[in-house]
Amino acid sequence: MSYVGPDFDPPQPRRPRRRPLTVAVAALVPGALLGWLVYAAVGGSGGGSEEAVGTPTASTSSSAPTTNSTSSGAPATDDAKPSPTPTTSAPAASGPLKGKVVVIDPGHNPNNFQHTADINKKVNIGTGWKECDTTGTSTNSGYTEAKFTLDVAHRLRTLLEQQGATVKLTQDGDRTYGPCIDERAKIGNKAHADAVVSIHADGAGAGQRGFHVILPGKVKAGAANTGPIVTSSADLGERIAGNFVRVTGSAPSNYVGDGTGLVTRKDLGGLNLSTVPKVFIECGNMRDSKDAALLTSGAWRQKAARGISEGIVSFLRG
Ligand code: ZN
Repeated sequence: MSYVGPDFDPPQPRRPRRRPLTVAVAALVPGALLGWLVYAAVGGSGGGSEEAVGTPTASTSSSAPTTNSTSSGAPATDDAKPSPTPTTSAPAASGPLKGKVVVIDPGHNPNNFQHTADINKKVNIGTGWKECDTTGTSTNSGYTEAKFTLDVAHRLRTLLEQQGATVKLTQDGDRTYGPCIDERAKIGNKAHADAVVSIHADGAGAGQRGFHVILPGKVKAGAANTGPIVTSSADLGERIAGNFVRVTGSAPSNYVGDGTGLVTRKDLGGLNLSTVPKVFIECGNMRDSKDAALLTSGAWRQKAARGISEGIVSFLRG
């Protein structure tokens, strides 16, 4: 591959496909993360994320993401550009992800605020009906989730294209609203995507911190039939969570997922209607001031994109 930047760790091809993330690195978990885990074990209430109706259920997976890195999660004060400028800028004609299709779903849409009637229309998600789309949340200072998700999506697209992948976005701020959640799923399905990730940030209470990856639960109702993608999506999600911890230094959510950073849900149309491996990631809580300091940092968003990218690369390379 043509691009190896100063902060870029090439994927590790020797990694076995299903190696538990916990193997042999427990001793290296930084004290800060242990603190998070303890906090998560003793407290934490359910948090709300978009599309949220019902109670998230903690994943039964034992593969809690861990870290073998001492990278800092401290926010940078600059607002870095969407990606480092590669020395060779052309999308890779070859690379480890050549022939792979990745669909990135930037949650919400910056224009949804102006189209509330449209986004409030109900669409069928197999298990029921939900709003077409939602506006998403924002930090207390007004940095919107929709702006965040698009920025991370752009950074992630660049990183994946540098690996040779074909990348499609479900929206690029170029639509008046949406797309609706059922259409977001269909875009990944129609593309025959090898992996889909929906980018979000949460709107939980102050003091509730950290990221979590949402995995599709097994549902079969109407147009929803996730049975064929549950296992592969869990694999994708575990790899994203593990790499997200490692690259960003952020801890798993202290309010859902029991410290694993993994939550399984059956109420999200974007997951229920997917026929290809797909997960959501809530990168942090916009309503917590410490998480917001990270989410509003361009340098941190680049790390977030890298963590997600490296998880996808790991998944696709097997
Ligand atoms: Zn969201």
